[in-house]
Amino acid sequence: MYQDTAVRPVTLVQHPLFGPEPVVTTCTSCNKQVTTEISRHTSACSYITCILSIFVCCPCFWLPLVCPWFMDTIHECPNCKDTIGVYSRFN
Ligand SMILES: [Zn+2]
Repeated sequence: MYQDTAVRPVTLVQHPLFGPEPVVTTCTSCNKQVTTEISRHTSACSYITCILSIFVCCPCFWLPLVCPWFMDTIHECPNCKDTIGVYSRFN
């Protein structure tokens, strides 16, 4: 009878908590300590929130498409321009 009692190795990956503001982290591509450059992009959830706002006749239905609060924040390495992380309020 198979018993799963073995202790599984836990892989601890040190990821900083990416938020809406730049963070200091080690780039996974160039391995340099950098402060991330952020850019904001409308996410699918921005559009969903917008559509839902239209259904409830909210006059501010367009807000999710222009308000940074509703947008995803992309963290890029200023050195190699690689995307290090993404922050979304809707996850
Ligand atoms: Zn880099």
